[in-house]
Amino acid sequence: MIPGSFAYHRPTSIAEAVGLLADLGEDARALAGGHSLIPMMKLRLASPAHLVDLAGVSDLKGIRVEGGDIVIGAMTTQQDLLASEQLSAKVPILRETSLQIADPQVRYVGTLGGNVANGDPGNDMPAVMLCLGASYQVTGRGGERRIPAREFYQGAYFTALEPGEIITAVRIPVPPSGHGSAYEKLKRKIGDYATAAAAVVLSVSNGKVATCSIGLTNVAETPLWAEEAARIVIGSALDAASIKRAVGAAEAITSPATDNRGPAHYRTKMAGIMVARALARAKDRAGG
Ligand SMILES: Cc1cc2nc3c(=O)[nH]c(=O)nc-3n(C[C@H](O)[C@H](O)[C@H](O)COP(=O)(O)OP(=O)(O)OC[C@H]3O[C@@H](n4cnc5c(N)ncnc54)[C@H](O)[C@@H]3O)c2cc1C
Repeated sequence: MIPGSFAYHRPTSIAEAVGLLADLGEDARALAGGHSLIPMMKLRLASPAHLVDLAGVSDLKGIRVEGGDIVIGAMTTQQDLLASEQLSAKVPILRETSLQIADPQVRYVGTLGGNVANGDPGNDMPAVMLCLGASYQVTGRGGERRIPAREFYQGAYFTALEPGEIITAVRIPVPPSGHGSAYEKLKRKIGDYATAAAAVVLSVSNGKVATCSIGLTNVAETPLWAEEAARIVIGSALDAASIKRAVGAAEAITSPATDNRGPAHYRTKMAGIMVARALARAKDRAGG
């Protein structure tokens, strides 16, 4: 399919980009890697009259440490995440998740900012950001603000971004050293979106779970933060009874669609299995 016609803009600064988006109004869309937006345009599910390409804005790229946070520019690609030894050492779940997104061709172009801004419940990074307690740095003509990832997702393709705002960076508090993490994703084939997936970050002290956070992908209109499931395993040795209760709590907050990945009930059960697997693997990887 061929997309509708559009005007192409290539700003070189954040100020120019948000100025263009504000001036052009709701007919304009930011373009990052284009690996979600362009397919939507080809299917005529989106027909923006203007594309504001963020690729020329160098301030939107790169990975840096700021205090206890890792700050990742929105235009940093999924391949850049894989290539960063610093990131793999400090927040290994980002590498594990990136490797499960699509295929190398997509990962060399698709960006972290596009993945978290898109609002598609099938995107993998949003649940990981909920799990990590990340926040998004956002700039619009009115100035800058920070939005916690846990407050960002409001419905399928509906987020807390105001018209004309862009995400400039993703800010992730570095989990404590010795933490364990895992991203478990069930997919029908390599490169597919999740039937269900779970992200876990936890720490262990004297054989018991000291801290835990759990995120779920593609089992509701938004990514889910499974707060109650995590609370259940804190203080436990991850025995079978605690895992069973946590799985039940995680399944209870899901509301997946019945689609070509399976009926809703199956996807809920798969979310529970992904949670159990991710908890076990994260604990195996944790020190303490
Ligand atoms: C074959 C295929 C398989 C895929 N499989 C997966 C998968 O398994 N898991 C997964 O997570 N993703 C998958 N994707 C999607 C891929 O990861 C996309 O790259 C990603 O979802 C969007 O990133 P992008 O940089 O391409 O954004 P774009 O497509 O350019 O933009 C997506 C949306 O976000 C908005 N946007 C982009 N950047 C910003 C910003 N900085 N601020 C505000 N709004 C912004 C755009 O306006 C648009 O609405 C797949 C894609 C393809 C083509």
